Amino acid sequence: MILRPIRAPSRAPVASEGGGTGRRARFRFSWGNPWGFESPLSHQFPFEKIAVMSGRSPIKNREETEAFRGRYDRQIRVQGFGAEAQDRIGRARVGIVGCGALGSRVAEDLSRAGVGYLRLIDRDFVEISNLHRQYLFDEKAALAQEPKVLAAARRLSEINSQIEVSAELCDLGPSNAEALLLDLDLWIDGTDNFQTRYLLNDLAVREGRNWIYGACVGVQSMSAAFLAGRACLRCLFPDPPPAGSTETCETAGILPPAAGFTTAIQSGLALQLLGHPERPLESGLLTADLASFEIRTMKLPKKSLPHCKACGQGEFPALTLDQGTQARSLCGRNAIQLSAPPSGFPDLGDLADRIGDSLEIERHAYMLRLHVPEGRITVFRGGRAIIEGTEDPGRARALFDRYLGT
Ligand SMILES: [Zn+2]
Repeated sequence: MILRPIRAPSRAPVASEGGGTGRRARFRFSWGNPWGFESPLSHQFPFEKIAVMSGRSPIKNREETEAFRGRYDRQIRVQGFGAEAQDRIGRARVGIVGCGALGSRVAEDLSRAGVGYLRLIDRDFVEISNLHRQYLFDEKAALAQEPKVLAAARRLSEINSQIEVSAELCDLGPSNAEALLLDLDLWIDGTDNFQTRYLLNDLAVREGRNWIYGACVGVQSMSAAFLAGRACLRCLFPDPPPAGSTETCETAGILPPAAGFTTAIQSGLALQLLGHPERPLESGLLTADLASFEIRTMKLPKKSLPHCKACGQGEFPALTLDQGTQARSLCGRNAIQLSAPPSGFPDLGDLADRIGDSLEIERHAYMLRLHVPEGRITVFRGGRAIIEGTEDPGRARALFDRYLGT
């Protein structure tokens, strides 16, 4: 692992030249909706880059080019993929939002495939209950409750030292989304919440970008590529479902193959989009039930729908939400995340000194953990906090104010 000074790598956009007549991904789509809500067709926080790992260009000279291609020989041989696509994904820059069951697997797929730059964005830390489905993490990371982005970046740098991995420990929101995403070629949804997915959708529509959606719960899977200029997520579902109205990992659990099925589709779409951007990709929503082996597909319209508030009418509510006092329930955690106070937050070291011996505190590099009678409070730089032991946002806010009020 090579830890390098923090800097923004120079942009190397995916080339769009070239032809190719090989096969491309073909999925047939028909409607399915395991989430159970209806479709009309059927900051807040300062973010910090905590590490950049590896980080040398995979293509520098003839020797390295040959070694580079040799490593990926078996995928270069795939009909319709080829050396040109391999070179393109080696120059590609991909953002993976969420580093849990979906994001960690997609990150591993793309790092092994040789995607040149991955930016991992996640707000959480590794827990023992993650390990049955999040293969990048191990017991050591769970016991240390290491930030997921850091544990993932470290492991990915061991898997492929020729790529660059950037770890962003933060909650993606309207205030930081542009800075975190706009310099990338493709965004991949590895989140567990609709709010962030709609943020990705609205920003992608406004900026004319592609993003790849994914979701899984229980034994069910959904995935889709939402492409610039075509129908978007809001064309299918105009607004996020009400909080508490859909199944989550906590209520329905999750079997690892549901995540694996979803990320196989997401990674496959990503390699097609990055490797052969000149080819038209079928765009659709794929759903699968891994208990009944029922796979359904629905073709998405190739054009924006006039009634869609985002791609049809140019309204992007997810980009203007005030997240200053936001509280979010965390999937499967019996925990609430509170956004950073808009008024600022003290340095964690100063805070720990102020608390002193009055509470049991764990000091970590990027966070403090307070053990309080009501549960556990983890606070990150900037003041974002996760309150464990409650699902009530009001109680979470009260506990934050009680122990960390400034
Ligand atoms: Zn739309």
